Amino acid sequence: MKTIIEPFKIKSVEPIRFTTPEDREAILRTACFNPFLIHADDVLIDLLTDSGTSAMSAKQWAGIMDGDEAYAGSRSFFRFEAAVRNLTGFKHIIPTHQGRAAEKILFTIVGGKGKYIPNNTHFDTTRANIEFSGAEAFDFQTEEGKRPDFIADFKGNMNIPALEEFIKKVGPANIPLCLITVTNNSGGGQPVSMANIRETKRVLEHYAIPLFLDACRFAENAYFIKTREPGYATKSAEEIAREMFSYADGCTMSAKKDALVNMGGFLALNDDTIALNARNLLIVTEGFTTYGGLAGRDLEAIAQGLEEVLDEHYLTYRIRSVGYLGEKLVAGGVPIVEPPGGHAIYLDAKRFAAHIPPHQYPGQAIVCELYRAGGIRSVEIGSVMFGKYDADGKLIPPPMELVRLAIPRRVYTQSHIDYVIEVVLDVFARRMDLRGLKITEEAPILRHFTAKFALI
Ligand SMILES: *Cc1c(COP(=O)(O)O)cnc(C)c1O
Repeated sequence: MKTIIEPFKIKSVEPIRFTTPEDREAILRTACFNPFLIHADDVLIDLLTDSGTSAMSAKQWAGIMDGDEAYAGSRSFFRFEAAVRNLTGFKHIIPTHQGRAAEKILFTIVGGKGKYIPNNTHFDTTRANIEFSGAEAFDFQTEEGKRPDFIADFKGNMNIPALEEFIKKVGPANIPLCLITVTNNSGGGQPVSMANIRETKRVLEHYAIPLFLDACRFAENAYFIKTREPGYATKSAEEIAREMFSYADGCTMSAKKDALVNMGGFLALNDDTIALNARNLLIVTEGFTTYGGLAGRDLEAIAQGLEEVLDEHYLTYRIRSVGYLGEKLVAGGVPIVEPPGGHAIYLDAKRFAAHIPPHQYPGQAIVCELYRAGGIRSVEIGSVMFGKYDADGKLIPPPMELVRLAIPRRVYTQSHIDYVIEVVLDVFARRMDLRGLKITEEAPILRHFTAKFALI
């Protein structure tokens, strides 16, 4: 049989509230053309993020009932710790309420003025936490990774020659650690090869710089390695994930992605001194060391989710269903980042709305019309999210203008996705009618969450 089916049955459902394009036009104006400011009840298909939006399994919900809420030494913590250690092999496992809390703790310790943190591509909260500490964040994407229309297997890879040049320029003593983000979220959800992780580690080792994984989508990355990298076809996703972690000295993790839960995260690492400092900070900002910012039941659900996410029927369905959306859009002529990534399809707004210049936010214009026309919520990943200003207040745009359609895990069926395809193709056919936007209000950091816009 060639049809890949959802490897689950649906036991509990949540109704969707229907709205008309006229309703949504008014909603959009009230939200100042920022989908983060729309009420979720007014959204038909929510592709804003795959973060914390997974459907949990019956076993995870059973774990929620079974969670041990002891303040210290909870049984659920020890199950969580064993699951994370079994997967990553790291010595110290520190729960946090989500990924950015792990980042905040880590960069408070190793960051600060005069420090540099390289990554294949920093995620927005990672960059924000590094910069908040006073350190500087640098991206080292490969040339092929920067080209949305270029098809390659591992477009998420680290640009190792550029990284090494950078290390020599700023000096290894000023680089407390280097990150690799798997999969490369901001770079289009593209995977990183095992060879690239191994080689990055080899270079870093020469300069005595530790390697950390931003491991949010480790299972999706492992599956891409299995299906695309020579020598891995017969290995299990779990074995591949373990090998990925084996090259790293630590990781930050948002359990809201590949641990299939609605809230949670962790920091895991081998260094005793950093771990001691991290636990002290954890107690100040998150909670005691055996719960971080989480309830015992959350730790149970994460432990169970980390097992389920490596099931290869799940991963086949997951990667295939995102690929299905991408292929149908490409067949309809829609420009997307190719090949499709693991958790999302990224529309290439520069080609989709070529008549709108970056400083009028072509991605945001597409985001607004997908919502108005079809009730689909997506997110701009371009000049709104990553734009900076020069000394004269002129926008410095990032290399790509993208719109992300992130697919929540185990939530939508194929007919939901068929509807999304229909809406995107409709908006694409009318793309010359799209109008640019200007920002009327913005925060100094992570402005995309709260910025307000007006049509030009
Ligand atoms: C989501 C995400 C984070 C931050 O995690 P939160 O749980 O949202 O705080 C960090 N890095 C990457 C790559 C992510 O996708």
